[in-house]
Amino acid sequence: MSLHLHNGICIFFTGLSGAGKSTIAVALDHALQTRGKKTTLLDGDVVRTHLSSELGFSREHRDLNIHRIGFVAAEVVKHGGIAISAAIAPYDSARRQARALVESNAVDEGRFLLVYLSTPLAACEARDVKGLYAKARRGEVAAFTGISDPYEIPTDADLVIDTSQVTVDEAVNAILAKINAVT
Ligand code: ADP
Repeated sequence: MSLHLHNGICIFFTGLSGAGKSTIAVALDHALQTRGKKTTLLDGDVVRTHLSSELGFSREHRDLNIHRIGFVAAEVVKHGGIAISAAIAPYDSARRQARALVESNAVDEGRFLLVYLSTPLAACEARDVKGLYAKARRGEVAAFTGISDPYEIPTDADLVIDTSQVTVDEAVNAILAKINAVT
């Protein structure tokens, strides 16, 4: 699919652990780069290693983490780049704040796409990529999103994708089509 994107945009994923955020984000990153676009990938685990290493998983720290991601994404978009965020981002207000930051910096409308990966908890838990669901069920991980910590389902998602129902390529194509539709 060709892309007629000019200026910056932020693709902001949200969803449970194991919903497919990193997987789809990496595939989208690759798809955009092969179309000559400059991308900045803000993966949740990488951000927590390099930008938010002192933060834990309280609501306050989760919100601060998303605020930092929103700030970086807004800078990237301001300079015409493409920012891809792949963090759980469980709280509605923090996601809206990130949207507001990016949109206030962007040159035109529709520069923040919230992509909700609605993959059901049961599917995420069955995948258990990092073995964290099993640990959370055993009580070995505190405040684990979907098990012992909240996830607020977005009511303002620009796109909803259940990765238990579609392939990675189909998900990426849906996002590219959405970018084309809004830009
Ligand atoms: P998250 O970043 O949301 O925690 P990951 O991308 O790390 O999720 O893990 C999702 C897992 O689900 C990966 O092991 C991936 O290979 C697998 N998976 C299976 N089908 C899909 C799909 N259609 N889209 C995305 N991931 C999928």
